Amino acid sequence: MIIGVLKEPSPETRVSLMPEHVTILKKWKADVYVEDGAGINAFATNEKYSEAGAAIASREQVLQKADIVLSINTLAESDLQNFKGKILFGLFQPLFNPGLIKQWAGKGFSVFSIDMLPRTTRAQSMDVLSSQANIAGYKAVLLAANLFPKYFPMFMTAAGSIPPAKMLILGAGVAGLQAIATGKRLGAVVEVFDTRPAVKEEVMSLGAKFVEVEGAADASKAGGYAVEQSAEFMERQKQKIAESVAKADIIITTAQIPGKKAPVLITDEMMAAMKNGSVIIDLAAATGGNTTQTKNAQTVFFNGVSIVGNSNLPAAMPSDASKLYGKNIINFLQLIIDKEGNLSLNFEDDLVKGTCIARDGSISNDRVSQALEALS
Ligand code: NAD
Repeated sequence: MIIGVLKEPSPETRVSLMPEHVTILKKWKADVYVEDGAGINAFATNEKYSEAGAAIASREQVLQKADIVLSINTLAESDLQNFKGKILFGLFQPLFNPGLIKQWAGKGFSVFSIDMLPRTTRAQSMDVLSSQANIAGYKAVLLAANLFPKYFPMFMTAAGSIPPAKMLILGAGVAGLQAIATGKRLGAVVEVFDTRPAVKEEVMSLGAKFVEVEGAADASKAGGYAVEQSAEFMERQKQKIAESVAKADIIITTAQIPGKKAPVLITDEMMAAMKNGSVIIDLAAATGGNTTQTKNAQTVFFNGVSIVGNSNLPAAMPSDASKLYGKNIINFLQLIIDKEGNLSLNFEDDLVKGTCIARDGSISNDRVSQALEALS
């Protein structure tokens, strides 16, 4: 079997596999074609891929040779016309792109989207959402520290005392927990909101304060994810959040609900009460953002507050992001490559079935089908 690795379109800096992952695939008797320069932004040169046993080729050659093509972002129409294989594998966010997936299915491709991997214990080593969100949480705090015109830690110096920065984190999933840990390491005082009471202990074990709002909808059957909340809960939550927002110097927002628009948790009125020079990093920007002012992939200024809308912070740390992403992919590929290096798809396996979103000419995943129906 031949696995193709494509160069991602700008501004993406990551790559699906690093040279070390090619070495593993070669041991499994699979061949790898890597597009010329695919790893360059992640500091993985063509030479390193060649040393690991990959063939370096043009984009057209990769698409014509590969049985499975790996990419992080969705492919262009011209790529599909060139692609001679049958399997597209990537991080396609199908709940937000169901129409595109339907088109691909109609062209006869089988599509695997690693963000649809069921979040079970066995799947943890393949979970790109976690490996990448961890980076996003870490980078969000570093970015905030760079933009913030004051210190994070408390200082008592001969020239006077500096109070610690007050950080507020909305959403204590993987990114939020890493943001807490990073903020604490830098010396900030941290407060946290989440609708899932299950995260309270984790938040407190990291040394942050968990602000509880009673009456959240039960998310215990949603596979670890959040569910949509009632208008009445959202109103009460907003009042509590407003008190914390007014005190905060730095806010990191990460609140998301899979397949839905992100909840708006910070209003113009709340931001108007913030101190000049405060910073908001909105990691939910790509799905609408958690503030009323967020613009995806842009920084906006509102009443002296910087609001950075960036949902692709893993791309700001391309080497480690690609190293972890690639290892997640390798761990998944192990499920679908047999001992002779051939493709072996076992749809009885819940991880293979859950990650495959299209096959035999149509969408094969219930959540993607529902997202498509919701569009019509
Ligand atoms: P996410 O990116 O979907 O959401 C981020 C956070 O925002 C979540 O904690 C969510 O509860 C919170 N949120 C949503 N609406 C909110 C609101 N109105 N107010 C405040 N917070 C709100 O989450 P994620 O980081 O991808 O993961 C969520 C959880 O999934 C993890 O904490 C974990 O329990 C579980 N998980 C399981 C596995 C596994 O078992 N393989 C792997 C990763 C994550």
